Amino acid sequence: MTPLRPTPIRLALVGLGKIARDQHLPSIAADPRFELVAVVSRNAEMDGMAQFTDLADLLASDVVAVDAVALCTPPQPRHALAHQALAAGKHVMLEKPPGATLSEVEDLRRAAAERGLTLQATWHSRYAVGVEPARQWLAERAVKAVRINWKEDVRVWHPGQDWIWRAGGLGVFDPAINALSIATAILPRPFFLAKGVLHVPENCQSPIQAELDFHDAAGAPIRAELDFLQTGPQSWDIEVDTDDGQLKLTHGGAKLYIDGQLIQEGPDREYPGLYDAFARLIADGASEVDVSPLRHVADAFLLSERVAAPAFIE
Ligand code: NAP
Repeated sequence: MTPLRPTPIRLALVGLGKIARDQHLPSIAADPRFELVAVVSRNAEMDGMAQFTDLADLLASDVVAVDAVALCTPPQPRHALAHQALAAGKHVMLEKPPGATLSEVEDLRRAAAERGLTLQATWHSRYAVGVEPARQWLAERAVKAVRINWKEDVRVWHPGQDWIWRAGGLGVFDPAINALSIATAILPRPFFLAKGVLHVPENCQSPIQAELDFHDAAGAPIRAELDFLQTGPQSWDIEVDTDDGQLKLTHGGAKLYIDGQLIQEGPDREYPGLYDAFARLIADGASEVDVSPLRHVADAFLLSERVAAPAFIE
């Protein structure tokens, strides 16, 4: 007799913007452990799918039942949405960053634990193919210096995303938090911000460029240069000098070089990796909430100098 396949996790997706369409929808469709049963969107439509304009209406619905929600909105409304979903007994996947503040995320962690639900704070870049081998290679070496260069053209990658420039939108830290999610995963010692400069356009609330100087617990310098105005070649690179050679992650962690030699590259498996982890967490009754990348961003906002930059006109 063929064994029965387990019932898929009935999932609703909230916020049908760029990342939901580019990554979440294909990853859900490819994973038999999930069934997309509804979308919550104030504007967009999806053919043949149960649709709600408000998460509260979906949660109150006696027509569509869901087990879990994936929140693909910007960070500002994330806490209220996640809280609603957890209160209604649903497992929750949070896009990065997991909230607009650290306190919000702590509140969600507590709410999920109290109810025995899964809360997953996702860091998709940690699933890039070079990241885990980089962590393993660095675990056996002494780090001497780190350079993070995260430089992309906001007009190409985030067209029309006004929320990025508002309070809580993070500006250049919206992509650069991915670098911090990799650095916190691969570097063997914790690191701390010493000083920083944030360049904030006069018509925006969040920075368009930043330079940050961290050091690790043994004093090794970590320099991060973040730029949202990079035209021409884009860079999502981390270089680590050690006592035994140089490691370089490029393309956001998709390629790993040791002493200039390509060691690892592969197809993009970041979002399938996130959904695999979500399914496993739900099966195990566990949560995964690491706020360390968001804490570094909060530290940057606490400690850095602010410099006025020209107005940003898209
Ligand atoms: P986006 O294209 O602007 O889409 C966000 C969607 O969220 C909107 O289309 C909107 O969808 C919904 N929404 C709900 N409340 C909103 C509010 N108060 N303001 C604006 N939109 C609201 O943004 P995105 O690029 O998909 O990014 C969403 C999240 O994913 C961000 O936290 C971002 O850091 C993360 N992320 C983005 C990327 C990327 O490459 N773009 C990659 C990884 C992670 P409805 O009209 O359907 O309600």
